[in-house]
Amino acid sequence: MILDLDELYQQVILDHSRQPRNRGELPDATRSAEGYNPLCGDRITVRLRERDGRIEDARFTGQGCAICTASASMMTDSIKGRTVAEAEKLFECFHDLLTGAAPDPVCQMGKLAAFADVRKFPIRVKCAALPWHTMRAAVKEQPDVVTTE
Ligand code: ZN
Repeated sequence: MILDLDELYQQVILDHSRQPRNRGELPDATRSAEGYNPLCGDRITVRLRERDGRIEDARFTGQGCAICTASASMMTDSIKGRTVAEAEKLFECFHDLLTGAAPDPVCQMGKLAAFADVRKFPIRVKCAALPWHTMRAAVKEQPDVVTTE
């Protein structure tokens, strides 16, 4: 697949895909979920340590393309320290960003706004969304593997 790399791989995404944050096991995780995107082959596991409704730590493992890896890295960075409710709200904000829906004024995307350009590449939207769907499954304690289909 040929993509316009200059447009899609903005600096922040490139940085996170090359040096993912929060990649690795989380032995004291209280919640986890697996996500799979058959269109691309992205497969990740998100692990969270939640206490009293707050996400104290978040890590991911697995294999994904550059967009999926960067998204997982930035997703875990974004939800650490937040409450479960805040993380779910951020999921909605990120979903709106990817789908081009009118943003909720409460959404503070920060660096996550870099993913707005992924919209131009519909097949990559699922790559960017997978870590978020997986995180949401983890906080909702859904047992099955999440897929983007
Ligand atoms: Zn992918």
